[in-house]
Parts: sequence; C-alpha cells; structure tokens
Amino acid sequence: MSAHEVIEVDIKRVACDGGGGALGHPKIYLEMGAASEVVCPYCSRRFVFKESTAVNAGDLSSRSASAKRNGPSCR
Ligand SMILES: [Zn+2]
Repeated sequence: MSAHEVIEVDIKRVACDGGGGALGHPKIYLEMGAASEVVCPYCSRRFVFKESTAVNAGDLSSRSASAKRNGPSCR
C-alpha cells in the first residue's frame, strides 16, 4: 500500500500533508534547494521538479495564435 508516489511540481517549494486519509500527516513544507527533487519524510512521496510543464502549454497556445492570418481582401 505504500508504493512511492511521484508528484511532478513546477516550483521548488512544496507543501505535503499526505493527502489526508490513512496516509495523512501534519502539513509540512519541503524545500528542494539546489536539488530537483525531494522526498517527504512522513509519507515517502517524491516531489520531482519539472519546469517544462507550463512552458509546453504556453508554446501550444502561441503556435495556434500565430496560425491566424489576414483574410484575403477582395479586389
Ligand atoms: Zn507527505
């Protein structure tokens, strides 16, 4: 039941409370510092820093925006 969960985050400071329920624990803040991941000492969840998540979404929307073109003017 204690499979180590991996949670992707886009900030280096995360809060963990175990998600409540049976695995719940007092809410603590985990600071990654220079590392790109941190493991919660209470519930052994692993938080992995992924900064590309937001960048990909922005790239997609800007691409579709540039696809719009001026309509041909009738002459
Ligand atoms: Zn935790």
